Amino acid sequence: MCDKGLMLISDDFAIDREMLRDIFEEEFDILEAENGQECIELVKQYGSTISVVLLDIQMPKATGLDVLEYRSTDPVFRGIPVIVITINDDTKSQMEIFQLGATDYITKPFIQEIIRYRVHNVLSTYNVEELMKERESLRAQSELDLMTELYNKVTTERLVGSLLANNTSHNALMIVDIDDFKYVNDTKGHLVGDRTICAISELLSGYFRKTDIIGRIGGDEFVVFMIGVPSKDLARQKADNFSKLLKYQPHTTLPVNVTVSIGLVISDPRPYTYEELFKQADQALYQAKRNGKGQYAEYGIESTQADFQKGIFTVLLLSKNRETRSIINTISEGIRLLTIAEPSEAEYFRKEFSSQIRFLYIDISGESGGGADLIQQMRSIPWLQGVPFAAICQEGNMEQFACAIEQGASDILPAPVDVIFAKRRSESLYT
Ligand code: GH3
Ligand code: MG
Repeated sequence: MCDKGLMLISDDFAIDREMLRDIFEEEFDILEAENGQECIELVKQYGSTISVVLLDIQMPKATGLDVLEYRSTDPVFRGIPVIVITINDDTKSQMEIFQLGATDYITKPFIQEIIRYRVHNVLSTYNVEELMKERESLRAQSELDLMTELYNKVTTERLVGSLLANNTSHNALMIVDIDDFKYVNDTKGHLVGDRTICAISELLSGYFRKTDIIGRIGGDEFVVFMIGVPSKDLARQKADNFSKLLKYQPHTTLPVNVTVSIGLVISDPRPYTYEELFKQADQALYQAKRNGKGQYAEYGIESTQADFQKGIFTVLLLSKNRETRSIINTISEGIRLLTIAEPSEAEYFRKEFSSQIRFLYIDISGESGGGADLIQQMRSIPWLQGVPFAAICQEGNMEQFACAIEQGASDILPAPVDVIFAKRRSESLYT
């Protein structure tokens, strides 16, 4: 889940890694390194998205002490708490560990409860105390957005602006805008709209680091400022993953299925004004919307889907099933795939895509009967009439197969959908 923290376990013993994984996997997404070198590589790759590192001292290639020495030279790594795991409990070893900047240590063999407390204590005191104080004072000065408790527009501009004025690193600024939000308000009411805004705020807060700046700057518009990104690709990955999380994973906290578009800009290590960077991110956001929404675009990077106007092959998938959505997405490279869970949601896409949809997938595998109702609902949408479709039917469900054929399906995919089979079929279906 995106609101979990990320823990890096670095230990050469597979059994120890497994034990630690068992203890923490409910609370954290886990990365594993088998030696010190791998640990450093993973920190370089994931950077400040890592919440805490558990570091064994005795490891091949680079020892835990080597890793700590490297950490002292890397500002991003220094910002991540490290708990050392050691078999040496003597004062000299402890001194050495702390001198090298470790946040805390635990001794092997582990006692589950103790190690849990240690990690929690470290995380609760690291950075968070300062942030809490700051948030309290901001709340007192009503600088937070009342509905979401994120920073409001003025505060966001001030905080990001002051960081950018003296900037010497690569930072990422993203504008996150909910897609077709007017439609949510119009069809589900403002209350559901409000709850959706709050749920997106919580997802954003859980997904980015506590030290990043997240603000609500307009109705359905948010700014995320990632401070000091270790690599440009990490920022791209974060933007891409967040948009995909909403698109392909049903979130129980979201009252309705919505997607977001993200405009991303990565700063050079030089001073900027907030307005300068915001304008660039806004242009990228506009591009993401033009490219079909539910995705990110980066300022200055030509999008492969930029010729939206020329009408790239567009396919609409109706499915409530997350697996199916993700498989059809995998096989739809180079194609614009629009995804909905209910026929009524097709309306989201009417304005921009009604004339461009060339193919439909209708997933009836979750229906209790033959699925004719669902197919008819989709086929009765005026601007989808005449568009060829494939039905996704429950494997072995003859009633559904028969119904799909009767309704005029040009092909049938059995669910669970097999990726290789579907890929082969799609090549002939799309042509
Ligand atoms: P697009 O995909 O192009 O972003 O389309 P959109 O419908 O989301 O359009 P836009 O972002 O321009 O409109 C945002 C809408 O958000 C306008 C307004 O109806 C709604 N909105 C703004 N503030 C609030 C709020 O506090 N609560 C609710 N429920 N709706 C709001
Ligand atoms: Mg919007």
